[in-house]
Amino acid sequence: MREFELLEHVYAANAELARHVRIGPGDDMAMVDLDGGRLLVAVDQIVAGKHVDLDTTPLELVGRKAITRSLSDIAAMAGKPVASLVAVTLPPDFGSKRATTLFDAMRKTAADYDCPLIGGDIAIHNENSHPLTCSVTVLATPSGEHVVTRDGAKVGDGVYVTGRLGGSLLPDGTGHHLTFEPRIKEAIELYRHLGTNLHAMIDISDGLGRDAAHIAEASGVSIQIDARLIPCRPGIEWRQAASEGEDYELCFTAPGELPTNMFELEVTRIGEVFDRKEPEKSSRGEAGGGSRGVVFLDGASELPGDELGWQHES
Ligand SMILES: [Mg+2]
Repeated sequence: MREFELLEHVYAANAELARHVRIGPGDDMAMVDLDGGRLLVAVDQIVAGKHVDLDTTPLELVGRKAITRSLSDIAAMAGKPVASLVAVTLPPDFGSKRATTLFDAMRKTAADYDCPLIGGDIAIHNENSHPLTCSVTVLATPSGEHVVTRDGAKVGDGVYVTGRLGGSLLPDGTGHHLTFEPRIKEAIELYRHLGTNLHAMIDISDGLGRDAAHIAEASGVSIQIDARLIPCRPGIEWRQAASEGEDYELCFTAPGELPTNMFELEVTRIGEVFDRKEPEKSSRGEAGGGSRGVVFLDGASELPGDELGWQHES
C-alpha cells in the first residue's frame, strides 16, 4: 500500500480531535494544551533494512540516527527539546552486547541534544529474520507564542533552505543521513530573528520536492523553485538534490529578503510562494501550472514537484 493513502484516512479524522489538541496529525509534530503550557510531541522510527543497513552501519550510528530523525522534527517546529522515549523491538539473535551498544548510542545522542531519554519499552521478535525497529518519541516546547507549522506560507514569501542538499544516501558519500546535525539550534535562532515572519517550516526528509509540496498543500499555496538556485552538494545535480531526501535541512518561508548567512548557517533563497489559483508566470502558460503545489523552473523548462521526491512504500 502507499503511505499517503493511509495518511489521508488518518487526517480525515482530524475534525474529531479533542479541544486540547492544538495541532493534530499532519505536521512535523502535534501540539497539545497542558494546564498552563503547551507540549509538542512526535514519534518516528527506523527499521533495519529500510532506513539503515545493519551490515554496513556501525550500531553507534544506527542509534544516533534513530534519535536525530526525531530531533529533526523538533527543529522543523522551531521547538526546544524536553525529553525522549524509545521503544525497541529486537530480533532474538541480536545479542545483549549489541543491544547495549545501541542503547548507549541512543541515550548519548539524546543527552547531547538536551533531549534526555526518560523511558521506553523493549520487545523481542519471534523470528531472527524480523528487523530491528527503534521507535522514538520526542517531547518539546514551542519557542514562543507563534508556533511554526507547515500551513503558514503566504503569497509573496520567499522560500529558503538551510545548508546543502543531495548525496545524503550515496554509499560512497559522507553518510550524511547517518551523521547529520539536527538543525534545532539554527531553527530557534531563525525563530528569534524572524518571529512571526517565520511563516512555515519543514525538515527535508522525503526530499525537497515532496517536502516543499507538504508546505504548499498545507498552506493552500503554490511554490515555484528556481532549480538553478538549489544549493547542491559537490557533484550532485539539482534533480537528485531535490528528490533523494534524508538531508534533514530546513525548508521555510518568510517575507522579505534574508541574509545569505545567518548565525554561521548557509541560508539560500530558492523560490517564492504564489497564489494557488493563478497560473502565475508559467513559461508554458498552461492553466494547470499554478494549481501544482510545487513547480521547479530550470531555465525555459519546468517540472512539477510531485514528480520528484520519493513515496514510501510499505
Ligand atoms: Mg519531519
